Amino acid sequence: PKGVIIINILKDFLREELQRLDYKEIMTPIILSRTLWEQSGHWDHYKENMYFTKVDEKDFAVKPMNCPAAAMLYLANSHSYRELPIRMADFGRLHRNERSGVTHGLNRVRSFVQDDAHIFCTFGQISAEIKSFLQMLNESYRVFGFENTRFELSLRPEKRVGSDEMWDQAESILTEVLDATGHKYTAQSGEGAFYGPKIDAFVPDAIGREWQLGTVQLDFSLPERFDMEYTAENGNRDRPVVIHRAMLGSLERFLGVLIPHLSGAF
Ligand code: ZN
Repeated sequence: PKGVIIINILKDFLREELQRLDYKEIMTPIILSRTLWEQSGHWDHYKENMYFTKVDEKDFAVKPMNCPAAAMLYLANSHSYRELPIRMADFGRLHRNERSGVTHGLNRVRSFVQDDAHIFCTFGQISAEIKSFLQMLNESYRVFGFENTRFELSLRPEKRVGSDEMWDQAESILTEVLDATGHKYTAQSGEGAFYGPKIDAFVPDAIGREWQLGTVQLDFSLPERFDMEYTAENGNRDRPVVIHRAMLGSLERFLGVLIPHLSGAF
């Protein structure tokens, strides 16, 4: 119960930031049908980390990520370029089947909530969205006294979706933003998500072990897979880009890092 008090205070803090930056909060189901996970690519690329169940003899999976549910909400209406970027925040509970050897206190658990959000934007809006997210992240981490954040740019993994051209573009945009904003980072080849490259923020805990907290990930694949569109200024139907982002990351892990960081003196 004491942990929940802190998590609720963290959520209040996050909701203020989300409101300031014009995010809309959504709530989505925990269990979603197999066809949705096949469409999103998780069935082929993330299955070993998922939990499954059957409903009316059909396969369903417990969500390890919120993305496909956010995609369904985007598709519920037609969109014009005037509405973009659309930013949807989701504090949905996630479940990932981590091997028992890798679970670790609060820091790596099988059921957790992230301060997750998905941004649907035009290609031209990507840089500004990533810059604004990194700025909010830096400012917020300072509030908690995390001064030594390290950034990693994770590049294309072996097991991935999308064309090489798509990856070239996505990786160069993230590199340009990191360089332009003066962030110190290391590039990690092969460490990207299966759907796109990402920037991860790592923070050292009280005894110097680093934990990944925030992340921002570009995704050119989800819009293709879900046939997402918007009406462009010239009347054409264009594809939006999806940005997945979490600032504090798993709130359970954040708490696991925060408790020793503050020696419990909240
Ligand atoms: Zn996502």
